Amino acid sequence: MRNRKPLMAANWKMNLSLDEARDLLNGIKSATIDYNRVDVLVAPPFTTLQLAQTILTETDIFLAGQNMHWESKGAFTGEISPLMLKEAGCSHVILGHSERRALFFETSETVNQKVNAAIEAGLIPIVCIGETLKQREDKKTFDIIKTQLNESLKTSCKKRNLPQTVIIAYEPVWAIGTGKTATPEMAQEVHHFIRRWLIENFGHNTGETIRTLYGGSVKPDNIKALISQPDIDGALIGGASLKVDSFLSIIQFYKS
Ligand code: PEP
Repeated sequence: MRNRKPLMAANWKMNLSLDEARDLLNGIKSATIDYNRVDVLVAPPFTTLQLAQTILTETDIFLAGQNMHWESKGAFTGEISPLMLKEAGCSHVILGHSERRALFFETSETVNQKVNAAIEAGLIPIVCIGETLKQREDKKTFDIIKTQLNESLKTSCKKRNLPQTVIIAYEPVWAIGTGKTATPEMAQEVHHFIRRWLIENFGHNTGETIRTLYGGSVKPDNIKALISQPDIDGALIGGASLKVDSFLSIIQFYKS
């Protein structure tokens, strides 16, 4: 029996004005959510964090940055530091999202530096990994996942120590924003592989405690089947997290 509480994490990407954000956050805040059964997190753009912190104060909803630099301060125009995210009310940070890797040339090496900096600053990293369609078609999915894990968590692997709060998000690149979802069985196969890798590197307790989220066109109509898989512990949700109704239906998966 799985002992990991599901987490539904909203990745807003570069979307929503302040007014739209206010409406969405108030909609989530005023809904009846059984926080004993599910954790909820939102990752707005940086300029919305302060508003989100104000609205979400004294709720159980977690706040995350969508990215950060690994240095604590300095001449890094356009960047934001771990401590700045903490000051803005974040407990978590998304790292290595496939859009960062593909569009902003982020590598697993820099993701590793960011993971270390986040842990050091007391932020919980949500480390994203996933294969492209070509890699899947070439039957390289497991090799890619293993390499991304080895490199994105390189320092932790060397120390053989990873905080049990760290979160891994498996997001097949071909399923992000495309409407194509991996079948629950396909996703479970990779999640099981990730779990085995975690156990091999960090021991049974840590490997069985770390949550692994699925991301890629998660919607109200597929969340139930995905979350029913033994190694899928929640979802990282893009498009469907931008509307109160669809995000709430995903959060309240336990109702139906
Ligand atoms: C994402 O942004 O991480 C994501 C999975 O997006 P979408 O749900 O829109 O596919």
